[in-house]
Amino acid sequence: MNGLVAQATATLQESGGRMTTQRRIILEALEALGAQGEHPNAEQVYEVVRRQNDAIHTSTVYRTLGWLAEAGLVNAQYLDPGGGDRCEHFESTLPATHYHFVCVRCGQIVEFECPPIEQVRTQFIQQHGGSIERVSLTLHGLCEACRKTEAGC
Ligand SMILES: [Zn+2]
Ligand SMILES: [Zn+2]
Repeated sequence: MNGLVAQATATLQESGGRMTTQRRIILEALEALGAQGEHPNAEQVYEVVRRQNDAIHTSTVYRTLGWLAEAGLVNAQYLDPGGGDRCEHFESTLPATHYHFVCVRCGQIVEFECPPIEQVRTQFIQQHGGSIERVSLTLHGLCEACRKTEAGC
């Protein structure tokens, strides 16, 4: 049993739900895509799911991904190049917290870690109280290859 499926099973049990075959297939698809460094949107997850089991409907995939994001088991981020930002992209929150740079021209995604964010969280809580459940930080710009093309060199 892999990390994401195990975590989701535990979370489901706490809330009185259970791991279904369909949910498991969706989680495994997401984890497999994540292992390839992909940041799939729901359609792309569905493409993989369909190859495993074509009885699973798109709506089930959307619903399951929404639930996973709410439960904090996956990261849902707007990573569309061009800033249209209409469709969310998903990835497992396991193993490490990281953030994204998206090239607005070619759509390339670069992952990076950002330790200062921890300070920002701590500082915020000191000043304003409360608690922070999720942080979203996405940088948009031109990747190095596109920047060179744009500059004409
Ligand atoms: Zn680029
Ligand atoms: Zn990522």
